[in-house]
Amino acid sequence: MNWEIVIGLEVHVRLKTESKLFCACSAKFGDPANTNICPTCAGLPGSLPTLNSLAVQRAATIAAALGSALQARSEFARKSYFYPDLPKGYQITQYEHPLAVGGELVVHEGGREVRFVLQRVHLEEDAGKLIHNRKDGVTLIDLNRAGVPLAEIVTEPTVSGPGEARLFLNGLKRTLQYLEVSDCNMEDGSLRVDANVSVRRPGAGLGIKQELKNLNSLSGIETSLGVLVESQIATLESGEPVLQRTFAASDGYVTPMRQKEEGADYRYFPEPDLLPLEVTPQRARSITDSLPELPEARRTRFVTEFALTPSEAEVLTSGRDVADFFESVAVATRGTDAHQAAGWVINETLALWSGAEAPFSSSFLAEVIGLVNNKALSRQAAKKVLLEMARSPTSEGVAELVARMGVGLEADASQMEQWVEAVLAEYADEAARLRAGEGRLMDFLMGRVMAASRGTADPHVARQLISEKL
Ligand code: ADP
Ligand code: ZN
Ligand code: MG
Repeated sequence: MNWEIVIGLEVHVRLKTESKLFCACSAKFGDPANTNICPTCAGLPGSLPTLNSLAVQRAATIAAALGSALQARSEFARKSYFYPDLPKGYQITQYEHPLAVGGELVVHEGGREVRFVLQRVHLEEDAGKLIHNRKDGVTLIDLNRAGVPLAEIVTEPTVSGPGEARLFLNGLKRTLQYLEVSDCNMEDGSLRVDANVSVRRPGAGLGIKQELKNLNSLSGIETSLGVLVESQIATLESGEPVLQRTFAASDGYVTPMRQKEEGADYRYFPEPDLLPLEVTPQRARSITDSLPELPEARRTRFVTEFALTPSEAEVLTSGRDVADFFESVAVATRGTDAHQAAGWVINETLALWSGAEAPFSSSFLAEVIGLVNNKALSRQAAKKVLLEMARSPTSEGVAELVARMGVGLEADASQMEQWVEAVLAEYADEAARLRAGEGRLMDFLMGRVMAASRGTADPHVARQLISEKL
């Protein structure tokens, strides 16, 4: 029977700032536990919050990039609840009057365009972190994270399935990375997702939703949402109601957590220690004006400007660092086919790209491509040079490295001569028959030369040399 899936996502993004949202403590991830705390983020009586301007800037940048309307005036509120990771007994967040309202994210995939509609983007502080030590039966608390700035991005309940949820999150993550507002790392919790899901008959009102928390990978989100959808459909088809519950996801399983509080249980009220947040039209305009080119726009431009195929453009815009890298190589080798530059980046560079740093500079690669095009370096030798530079980076230029490694075509030439002569001596009979006109033996001799060079010889040069020697 026919069911419609309804998903709404709440994404928490840790904003890249030096200090916390309301105090001067370091917001750094991974410092020794409980070393970045002060009276304000520990919630001691008499302490007062001071708003971090860079956090506002970053959250507003996210809103602007997503077309979410920045509000001239927004407000902070206290969301009260008791939990050991919340030293103040309340979280400062935006509730009735968020930083930005509405917006959308458009994602292209396999030739189709999907629009995800947003409800809001708001600012809030993070809670501390509980570390459950099952072995000793104790729970430890690290308050370094308490007060770290988060932007929360909330979608309308219109995401139509687990696969679409993943598509949205992937697209959002890519956009956030382009904006350089967050590390967006799911493992260390700088991107956290709560997913709400319900099912209904087409045309019916919204069903009872269930919420998934602790989602720490995109594939895990898709799997766990699928599990909840299946169980909701089975429940409804057996005539039972779906219960409004929160589940924790882990390894494809979902386990029920506490009953979800209603808004009223949190006793939201405006934070009396902070003024309303005002964003002037000038500031809003300067934020919008300084947005970088976003992934979708860049993908389209790569197709038109560099004549890349859609799939090449897709790969090359997957991250801003990769896109910047490709673009400088393409510009530096301008005049040659940009496809060629794309090939060198996709096939010879991405695999060597581990972590944040490119394996070598774009000008290094551009120079290597130039040498190959000028027939001063074979393709095989070029790959060796790139690999060497990636493995043991040096300050040497391309020419110096090529000389030190002895892989330039000049160096190759004498080596090649030795291989060819050795093969012609060993297979003198075949060489004589080739000279007498048995053309197919060329491939045989070529194969011997390639084997002797362990595949490193340039086939064109080898073939030419065999002909000359004969
Ligand atoms: P809550 O008050 O429980 O936090 P909200 O109305 O603020 O609920 O919505 C939180 C998220 O849940 C939003 O992303 C929203 O789109 C989604 N959502 C709301 N109702 C449903 C529903 N019936 N099914 C699926 N998602 C929903
Ligand atoms: Zn502090
Ligand atoms: Mg809500």
